[in-house]
Amino acid sequence: MDHDFMDHEVDVLVAGAGAAGMTAALVCALQNLDVVLVEKSAQVGGTTATSAGTIWVPGTSQATGFKDDVAQARRYLDAIIGPATDGRREAYLASGPEVVDYLARNSEVKFSPYDKHPDYLSNRPGATLAGRALAPLPFDGRLLGKDFAMLRPPIGEFMALGGMVIGRDDIEPLARPFASVANFRKMASLLLRHAADRLRFRRGTRLLMGNALAARLLYSLRQRNVPVWLNTSIHELVMDGGRVTGARLSVEGTSRRIVARRAVVLATGGFGGSVERLNEYVQPKLAHAVAFAGAEGDGMRVARGAGAGVEDDHAQPAFWTPVSETTWLAGGRGAYPHLALDRAKPGLIAVNAAGRRFVDEAASYHEFVVGMHRSHETLPTIPAWLICDRGFIEAYGLGRVPPGRRSWRRLIASGYLVEADSLDALAARIKVDSAGLRDSVVRNNRYAETGTDDEFGKGSTDFDRHNGDPAHKPNPCLGPIAEPPFYAMAVYPSTLGSSVGLRTDSDGRVLSASGTPIPGLYACGNDMASIMRGHYPGPGITLGPAMVFAFRAAMAIAALH
Ligand SMILES: Cc1cc2nc3c(=O)[nH]c(=O)nc-3n(C[C@H](O)[C@H](O)[C@H](O)COP(=O)(O)OP(=O)(O)OC[C@H]3O[C@@H](n4cnc5c(N)ncnc54)[C@H](O)[C@@H]3O)c2cc1C
Repeated sequence: MDHDFMDHEVDVLVAGAGAAGMTAALVCALQNLDVVLVEKSAQVGGTTATSAGTIWVPGTSQATGFKDDVAQARRYLDAIIGPATDGRREAYLASGPEVVDYLARNSEVKFSPYDKHPDYLSNRPGATLAGRALAPLPFDGRLLGKDFAMLRPPIGEFMALGGMVIGRDDIEPLARPFASVANFRKMASLLLRHAADRLRFRRGTRLLMGNALAARLLYSLRQRNVPVWLNTSIHELVMDGGRVTGARLSVEGTSRRIVARRAVVLATGGFGGSVERLNEYVQPKLAHAVAFAGAEGDGMRVARGAGAGVEDDHAQPAFWTPVSETTWLAGGRGAYPHLALDRAKPGLIAVNAAGRRFVDEAASYHEFVVGMHRSHETLPTIPAWLICDRGFIEAYGLGRVPPGRRSWRRLIASGYLVEADSLDALAARIKVDSAGLRDSVVRNNRYAETGTDDEFGKGSTDFDRHNGDPAHKPNPCLGPIAEPPFYAMAVYPSTLGSSVGLRTDSDGRVLSASGTPIPGLYACGNDMASIMRGHYPGPGITLGPAMVFAFRAAMAIAALH
């Protein structure tokens, strides 16, 4: 994209092309502001493009059929996070429905509610089973034409066959195409579409989840002719008398100045992609971040240079997920986030070095890692080991191993999957206490019969059961680990994004360390401290606020005289 400028002047400069930055730029353009969006990397989308794309927004008109209201959602957030520390929670609840409607009316950024997607702490007051979590509508990447190449792809772990995005509903037909006529039809249509795509594009164009969201935002920006400057990063703010009046940008190693008559909006994605920055806040040190590596704290750094304050008194500094370490046939390593497909299913336990369980395995990915960290304080739990038998993997898959009957020889040889004919042999291979492991399996198998996990309550909440196997009785999350061979997979803590971030008011105005707004400076997305304060109440609690506060910031900027 063109960035032929020396001293360029705009109303608004937005830095970072994830959900937050693209929403802020889009709303500014829709409010007739002259806006430019700069993106450090060669593609737009950031972590957003690799995410599940869910937004958690209570009370939308899209979800009118569900029994829920904003008062219930407020009760839920109060129960989990505690009393609000500023006006942002109320602003979020008040504006959320308006933002989703505004985008649906004025752009191609459209959502629909999941039929069922329970809140993550579903036994707390005010929790719902459905209605708050919205999914972006799928998008046909072909509509982007040559701009499709500007869109960051999902992580390889969520694609198959060289670039086909796999949605949750696609797994069963692809894993068991001959199990039913419907499965076969779906598998055939997916493969035909993908084959046609590959004749014209480097990857599949049937876009789902976060990739659909980023594509919809990009498409809407193009419809409004918003300039997007790739390979352009903000590295310093320009100040005049305490007011932010522009920024210095780095364009392929050259520093350029841009004047922003009204505002600079920081949306560089927080620091969830930088293991080094995360480790300033995390003990024990992390080895992994599945958030996009470009989200490395630039917005916080430049804002601090202008005197901005940071909110860091959060329950957790970041949002967590367990990951397993993958290796690619073509070379290179990656990480598979164990979000919702395997841990909750019946017939799997997670153990520490003592061979003991330490958490409800079906809890949300965030709570699972909180449990890992807690256990690691007394017993080595990094890595933790997911333990199951062959029947489990054939039925549900495990991490990168898809369900179905096939050979796992390569995955075993690479060490991704550890196999043994007995629990003792498995324990020896993964160096965990064998008596502890045997005992954990015996207890699990007893719970599978009674339907009650006396230790950690696996399968005791609506959220757990939603991710279990509804056909499995008496508890959809509890099954025996019985038939050899047995398997183990190592999982490590990793991050989806940072929670700690810049202190702002409810319109995204960045506040100084003493709490006064810095004129001309706004932040949204993970650059803004999360209103969830390090808690993970439900699906979409980073992207929802990212888009709502991007909207509120853009509207506040549009209202400036
Ligand atoms: C596998 C996975 C699944 C997830 N699923 C969900 C979900 O369903 N719902 C949810 O709410 N959250 C989810 N998350 C978390 C969510 O994706 C992130 O919290 C969110 O995308 C952050 O959005 P953002 O706009 O702040 O940043 P990003 O989307 O990361 O975008 C930031 C952009 O800023 C750019 N940038 C960085 N520095 C500069 C600079 N100096 N100048 C210019 N540009 C810069 C980056 O290159 C990047 O493109 C998931 C995360 C992962 C990894």
